[in-house]
Amino acid sequence: MATTAHVQSAITRFRAIVGDDAVLSNRDEMLVYECDGFPIAKGLPTCVVFPTTTQQVADCVRVAIEFDLPIIPRGSGTGLAGSAVAYGEGVLLTTSKMTGIEFVDVKNRFAVVQAGVRNLALSDFVAATGLRFSPDPSSQRASTIGGNFSTNAGGINTLKHGVTTNHILGVEMVLADGTVYTTRIVEGDALYDGVGADLPGLLCGSEGTFGIITKLWCRLVPSPKNFRTFYAVFNSTHDACKSVSDVIAGGIVPTSMEMMDGEMIRIVEAAFHFGFPTDAQALLLLEVDGVDALLDEQMASIVEIAKANNARDITLCADPKRRVELWSARKKAFGAIGRVSHSYCTQDACVPRSKLPEVMAHVAELGKKYGIRITNVFHAGDGNIHPIILFDEDKPEEVQRTLRLSEEILEYCITVGGTITGEHGVGVEKLHLMDKMFNPATIDTFKKIKATFDPDHRINDGKHIPSDRLHIELLTPVTPGKNQAGGALVTQV
Ligand SMILES: Cc1cc2nc3c(=O)[nH]c(=O)nc-3n(C[C@H](O)[C@H](O)[C@H](O)COP(=O)(O)OP(=O)(O)OC[C@H]3O[C@@H](n4cnc5c(N)ncnc54)[C@H](O)[C@@H]3O)c2cc1C
Repeated sequence: MATTAHVQSAITRFRAIVGDDAVLSNRDEMLVYECDGFPIAKGLPTCVVFPTTTQQVADCVRVAIEFDLPIIPRGSGTGLAGSAVAYGEGVLLTTSKMTGIEFVDVKNRFAVVQAGVRNLALSDFVAATGLRFSPDPSSQRASTIGGNFSTNAGGINTLKHGVTTNHILGVEMVLADGTVYTTRIVEGDALYDGVGADLPGLLCGSEGTFGIITKLWCRLVPSPKNFRTFYAVFNSTHDACKSVSDVIAGGIVPTSMEMMDGEMIRIVEAAFHFGFPTDAQALLLLEVDGVDALLDEQMASIVEIAKANNARDITLCADPKRRVELWSARKKAFGAIGRVSHSYCTQDACVPRSKLPEVMAHVAELGKKYGIRITNVFHAGDGNIHPIILFDEDKPEEVQRTLRLSEEILEYCITVGGTITGEHGVGVEKLHLMDKMFNPATIDTFKKIKATFDPDHRINDGKHIPSDRLHIELLTPVTPGKNQAGGALVTQV
């Protein structure tokens, strides 16, 4: 553990690089950085540093090495798996102030941005050209493109238009020794590297464990002009899930197929009054885009499928204003939960779409078994479920019950052919399940890739890939009388 004098010297050096105002080291100021969007795992960093240039990031990395401080990259901190948090000590290297949109090439449809540009800010910036950055996580107003890349974020458009990795052409990254590395050969002109392994693909989704992303070459795509949107209301979650599976089995790929369960409909309705029926058990919100002449026929087939699955009410929406409202209802769902629960955590697994009906039923049973309220809003078309677990983070026993419930949900999803994450990543939350997903040879390969980029385990160790040096435990037996909520047990090996 570093001494106070040692830490003070490091902070002075960071201040010399980024300026006094761009370093936080006071406990009260840093409290907001003690967790990301996963409130169960908390830890204070040694300091929080806000560089604005790649050079500053590289210089900060060198100082961190000199003072032997772990480095934890962070964007906006909207992550949901506890991976942008320092547990014990470390410098939180936050790229959220690296907000420059450096270059937009409309003809060749790409933009070069700094890592801290917010997702929606890029699409807003290029909107007048008729282009957009396609990945659209519901957090897109706040989350950074660097964070989206590091988690391989998905979103509502993912079903048809792909996840973040499909929209990033190249990255610049500061390595663990302070070297600036780029996957591209030439800045600006060359659109495709096309040589050797897909390096951006390898880095995408690595949850800040390989280096600090400083710049990204983002693909821009034409914003769809023609849409058909509908929502269907069901008296059973099973029927709504079966519709999702049948649409895909029928060879139709909508832009989006999102679902809310009955409880979520009531939570959203109470908060925002969108006009959804509060006695329904499920709502399917669906959109197709593409060539105008083909859309009515596609939508007619989808309506038939919904009817065959007992949809009790189907509303086709032609009004662009109402369409925006409907999607805003979906994106605001998480915000509405804050009104009904002290704390919540969002589970994230992917399952084969055909298994959705049984998976949703099983998740509800597990909620009953653990005596914990669960509500659901999710990317149904991707088979990406998000059971939202409502609990009170001030009650240690309830926190542990939430973690056990999460674990059982994820283990079950593996048994039906699913994965432990669809888009939020592994972080610290799911690390103990990696060996249930992968065999020892695969885990070993992950470790070797990490070692290639970060041989000394300096960057975000103990997250995403099991570490031989640092263990961060959340699931611990509750010690009577000791408040273990909101903390993490860190073991240095
Ligand atoms: C309300 C809400 C809705 C959400 N909806 C979605 C959704 O629809 N789809 C989805 O995929 N996710 C969603 N998320 C999760 C989250 O927004 C995404 O994971 C997002 O990509 C995180 O971006 P961030 O900038 O907040 O990153 P952070 O939370 O700060 O960091 C996330 C991870 O990326 C790493 N990282 C961040 N910046 C860098 C960098 N510059 N270099 C290296 N590593 C870095 C961190 O170390 C960490 O491992 C949602 C979250 C919330 C709170």
